[in-house]
Amino acid sequence: MATRPGSRTKLEILANILRLEAKEGFADKVVKGGLDKFLGLAFDELTPTLSSLPGYGDMTPAERREWATGVMRRIPRHTQSDAPTSRPATQSATHPATVAGASPQSDRSSPARPRRPRTPPAPVKASLDDSVSVLRSVNKSHLPMLERLGISTVQDLLYQFPLRHLDYANIRKVNELMPGEEQTTVATLWEARVVGQNPRRKSTQAVFGDDTGNLHVVWFNNPYVARSLKPGVKVALSGKVGVFGGRPRFQNPDYDILREGDDSVHSGRLVPVYPLTNRLYQRTARRMAREALDVALSKVEESLPPEMLERLGFVGVRDAISQMHYPDSAQSYTTARSRLAFDELFVMQLAVLSRRIRWREADGVPLSVDEARLSAFIESLPFSLTGGQARALEEILADLRDSRPMSRLLQGDVGSGKTVVAAAAMLAAVFDGYQGALMAPTEVLAEQHYLSVTRMLSGGGESPTLDEHVVSLDMPSLGRPVTVALLIGSLRKRAKDELHERIAAGEVDVVIGTQALIQETVDMPRLAVAVVDEQHRFGVMQRSALRGKGARPHVLAMSATPIPRSLALTVYGDLDTSVIDELPPGRQPVRTVLVSPEQRSAAYEGVRREVTQGRQAFVVCPLVEESEAIQSRAAVEEYERLSSNVFPDLRLGLLHGRMPLREKELVLEEFQRGGFDVLVTTPVVEVGIDVPNATVMLIDGADRFGLAQLHQFRGRVGRGVHRGHCLLLADAPGEDARERLRLMERIQDGFALAEEDLRLRGAGDYMGTRQSGLPDLRVARPTDQSLLALARREAQKLLDDDPELEREEHAVLARRYRKLVASTPFDAS
Ligand code: ADP
Ligand code: MG
Repeated sequence: MATRPGSRTKLEILANILRLEAKEGFADKVVKGGLDKFLGLAFDELTPTLSSLPGYGDMTPAERREWATGVMRRIPRHTQSDAPTSRPATQSATHPATVAGASPQSDRSSPARPRRPRTPPAPVKASLDDSVSVLRSVNKSHLPMLERLGISTVQDLLYQFPLRHLDYANIRKVNELMPGEEQTTVATLWEARVVGQNPRRKSTQAVFGDDTGNLHVVWFNNPYVARSLKPGVKVALSGKVGVFGGRPRFQNPDYDILREGDDSVHSGRLVPVYPLTNRLYQRTARRMAREALDVALSKVEESLPPEMLERLGFVGVRDAISQMHYPDSAQSYTTARSRLAFDELFVMQLAVLSRRIRWREADGVPLSVDEARLSAFIESLPFSLTGGQARALEEILADLRDSRPMSRLLQGDVGSGKTVVAAAAMLAAVFDGYQGALMAPTEVLAEQHYLSVTRMLSGGGESPTLDEHVVSLDMPSLGRPVTVALLIGSLRKRAKDELHERIAAGEVDVVIGTQALIQETVDMPRLAVAVVDEQHRFGVMQRSALRGKGARPHVLAMSATPIPRSLALTVYGDLDTSVIDELPPGRQPVRTVLVSPEQRSAAYEGVRREVTQGRQAFVVCPLVEESEAIQSRAAVEEYERLSSNVFPDLRLGLLHGRMPLREKELVLEEFQRGGFDVLVTTPVVEVGIDVPNATVMLIDGADRFGLAQLHQFRGRVGRGVHRGHCLLLADAPGEDARERLRLMERIQDGFALAEEDLRLRGAGDYMGTRQSGLPDLRVARPTDQSLLALARREAQKLLDDDPELEREEHAVLARRYRKLVASTPFDAS
């Protein structure tokens, strides 16, 4: 530790200054030019006491008093030459160093007492499926912590791979740290404190030192570090070194508390850093992983047949797992990672490909596809199809002619016009005397589809009202009317029963409704084309639930959540894809701005400005909770607040999930008709709502939504001739959230946005793991493109060879495959 000569005097001077300041009412008059100037000059020596430059000049006198009191408390009364450093030393004595690998019993014993050498206990016997509690390193109190990490069995622990590794092969002294590089140093904590005014954005500032100098460290948005580190503790810090005020500073480094006897830092190797939860310490996590490796690695079975291992040049699975935790080198880590990533992708490709094979081997309904009638329909529309729409429709029609059932994903950005393509596909079925179904995730969206499809079928003319849940539309080219029905949960039971009967009797040509309802309750004997909108919300499973209701229908899944190609192959690997890659002519990009909390009223003014010009606006309430009831209540409150305080002179409407259907319809109709200026709504507007006169989308609490969702919201405005505006209000977004929201400002194209977001957050977060039906990828990353291609090729090859995975050498693989299929939407039935 470096107590430089002169620190005592500087401390004494500081103490004197502060006493004088107190006398003068903390007016910052004692030091000529301000106290900051003195602190700046003397800071080097004062760091153990101050840990950061306070910006004294910018504080109010009251804040100065508080700060000065704190500092005075830290200046030892009898200032002696070693006084500033004596505190950490005494503090550390109150936190007895524990010993690596020590049992709870020796934890309790005095640290001063020398340890008696013990013979190591025999390792426990554990199989992979045993609970982690069989391990010595795991005690009862750990179980809930591990559970939060998704770990319950020994196998889970083996497969809980480190987030990264600390390079203890190359440790530098503090004065050897070079700005701009990733480095590791070992230093003693002098002081750590929480800084920041905003309670939600507190940071930790700390000063560390070794015998070569002092080092500043900051953890932004992270007050926890200050609470978990005690002065005097020895810590390994790893990360990028920056410069701050001309001196090296670590920013958000990884840190690893070193205890006495902990030899990890001296091991001179790559040491794992595991994900942690509250009160689970890195050291404990390492011990558990180590024990799991020791007792259970030998139980892991090789899943790849020897021939494949050799041909592809992969390391064995046990080697790979062991090297993931404790790699010999960066290179061997990479080798291990590709092996395990391949495993994941390979089993997943086995699942999607075999499902594809099974789906297509059943009898479908080959349609004749009446080109003349379809052309007549398309010509009756008030617009002509874009090139992208025409191409997608061609691909779909080709599939419909096939006797094998279609399984196709139609992707197109918000507003690209997927609905009309879906309508044409369903009509192709109707023209042959079959039925079509269009399924949406929500009632509101189902109603929207009902309105727009019926409008299209009536030649762009008047749409029916939602009063009728069944309409018959003249179709001169067919020589008989086409009957379209809306089937949603909020229908009266009588109406529903009657509808079921008519559908089952084949009297209804096209059924539009919520997916759950159509799949669970309706028997559609002549269903030939089933369209599933916003497929990503359902996971992949439900598609197959359509089977068993007559012949296997052609299925078209539609998604406005642009799925990066990399993901599409994994999630939708069993589907063919069509992409509508252009918007109808004349669309202008939506101007998107991130609005800070101080600009909230300016944002409301923006809304008002558009309304004054005759436009309309959406205000989306912050996402409170997944519960629709709570969410709805929040929307009601927001509606009341806006009506009375912000827009008392405007006409406000309210839309939320808990409203009775009839009321929802009225509100939407009224908004569409221009009866409201502002629609206050829960996130139900996310998809599908089409109000061309709406030009402002104000999203409150924007940081709570994923980019895919925000992009959807944004797609609700600027659909007419006037330019759309999207205002993203976020109260206190962290760095990450802010970066994400800035992408929205910069990027208009949904696909580009998706790729960026994926890069930032990984696959699960992009679509929301639960919603996406994405299997749990621990090792593989969306960027593993060539591995994915390899896995797909190999899976196809293996299935050609052994479609049921019956061969002896595929037994382990078959087990893993069945496990995946059982635990994820990859049902292969
Ligand atoms: P999405 O792909 O988001 O589901 P929609 O099918 O709801 O898009 O279409 C968005 C809007 O664009 C609708 O009002 C629709 O009538 C209109 N539209 C669709 N295709 C065209 C086109 N080729 N030219 C002009 N407008 C179109
Ligand atoms: Mg749509």
